[in-house]
Amino acid sequence: MNIKELRNLKINTEVIDLFGWVNTVRDHGGLTFIDLRDYDSFIQLVIDDNINEIEKIKNEFYISISGIFKKRDLGLENKKQEFGDYEIQVTNLNIVNKSKSLPFQIEDKIETDESIRLKYRYLDLRRNEMKQNILARSKVFKSIRNVMNEMNVLEIDTPTLIKSTPEGAKDFLVPSRKNPGTFYALPQSPQMYKQLFMMSGFPNYYQIAKCYRDEDSRKDRQPEFTQLDLEFSNANPNLVKNNVEKIIKSIFSEAFDIKINSSFPSLSFHDAVNLYGTDKPDLRIKETINDATNVFSNSNVSFIKDSIDNSGVFKYLFTPKNLTRKEIDNFDALSKELGSNGLGWIKFENQNFSGPLTKHMSDDELSFVSSLGEGTFLFQVGNLLDISKTMDMLRTKLYERSEKEEHVFLWVEDFPYFEIENNVLQPSHHPFTAPQNVNDFEKNPIEAIALHYDLVLNGVELGSGSQRINNPDLQTLVLKKWGLSDSEIENRFGWFIEALSYGTPQHAGFAIGIDRLVAEVMKQNSIRDVIPFPKTQSGMDPLTDAPTALDADLLEEYNLKVIDENE
Ligand code: ASP
Repeated sequence: MNIKELRNLKINTEVIDLFGWVNTVRDHGGLTFIDLRDYDSFIQLVIDDNINEIEKIKNEFYISISGIFKKRDLGLENKKQEFGDYEIQVTNLNIVNKSKSLPFQIEDKIETDESIRLKYRYLDLRRNEMKQNILARSKVFKSIRNVMNEMNVLEIDTPTLIKSTPEGAKDFLVPSRKNPGTFYALPQSPQMYKQLFMMSGFPNYYQIAKCYRDEDSRKDRQPEFTQLDLEFSNANPNLVKNNVEKIIKSIFSEAFDIKINSSFPSLSFHDAVNLYGTDKPDLRIKETINDATNVFSNSNVSFIKDSIDNSGVFKYLFTPKNLTRKEIDNFDALSKELGSNGLGWIKFENQNFSGPLTKHMSDDELSFVSSLGEGTFLFQVGNLLDISKTMDMLRTKLYERSEKEEHVFLWVEDFPYFEIENNVLQPSHHPFTAPQNVNDFEKNPIEAIALHYDLVLNGVELGSGSQRINNPDLQTLVLKKWGLSDSEIENRFGWFIEALSYGTPQHAGFAIGIDRLVAEVMKQNSIRDVIPFPKTQSGMDPLTDAPTALDADLLEEYNLKVIDENE
């Protein structure tokens, strides 16, 4: 039996074959107390010395016991546990399996290196805080299936051995043994397949899909992650956004008992960057970034004037706090890490100004600063996108989050179609996204806007989606403007453009990052804490040591040769 089933027992009756792990052992000379733990409960065992093998018992042994279910003596109850008023007087104990000494204790808030926790993940998952995360994940899966069934959306699966599809990251490749020298890719997402379902005549689609992207892991990225993938036929962005709001509200309510009543507000990409310095602002922080370009456009400080003359902007944040030199230096160092030339600052304290540029500032400029009150004025001047990272960092570090609102959602839309990443032009979503206006796109693709929308929760990008291109000529045009040659278009996307050519309905879709959603609601810093078996930052699995080198024979079978870079 399990511990929860004790609910059905009467006091002073017999417990037979109760199984569980030894959570703790306390030897009280003649009497031993064990906290027995199973999947979801604890119960105290009281054991006389005459019980067989009691002296051998250690933490995490798996045991079975029989005994008498008793009420604890008055004053000895543990009010924190469901069965804290009870105990079992053990009459028979059997060690089902011993445990080696543990690499860390099975308890919350342990200070153990993450790589050790991942190496022994099966023990890490025995800890309550981790178990709660995985249970939350399981509840999310269940609630997704419920709401999708309610909305009559079809669950359909897609292959995971596919032709390489670009979605902004590198593919994981799988060599084909039967076709030497050729490779499959693991999907970065089921994007093209879900669009094919719309072309095939299905009205809608969802899948809890694994996606693979060979990129650097960060706290909210993993080489392999899980998303709720959605597509709707005859759809436009509003229809998708309405459906996504409904789905999110339903997941929050069913899986977490959190009611989200208001509808999600929207911001354009430009307004988000202008006001918050980022396309994923945390709206629990109420303060926005301010603009004083007009005030400083004739500045005597040459870098300010030159920058504004070159269509730069002057952005500032003000805090009534009198920041110390050390705090300012710290912000300065952080801003340099984010590509800034340095942090501009002016302090106004006891009616006096201080700061390196103060003596070059005009009276008008200084009176603008003092009109904000006593405190610290921090600024950046330059191209809006270039300075936004620093402004975002300052905003989140200077101001407090409102703790009243726990889950603040926001739609961000009207993204530029393309962005420049490491000097390379990339679609800001993916190249199957429809431009807002085809003529504008054709004339000036760099300035064109995409029908792409992101959902942000508490400053975390929870998901993205777009209206899709449903016309083969437009699809070809977009790939061309992206910089692909005719032969690249034919080789990589010819099959897809062909598929678009047989009467494709309008369609649009979305994908919600399940790992991020669970991590945010469970207040976990890293998505690794809500993924049962995640990889480390460097993409390793400390449990199995994957990825591993292969024997020469095996490589040969796959027609592969490893090149030793030192040779
Ligand atoms: N495939 C996209 C992604 O994984 C989502 C979408 O556009 O539906 O981000």
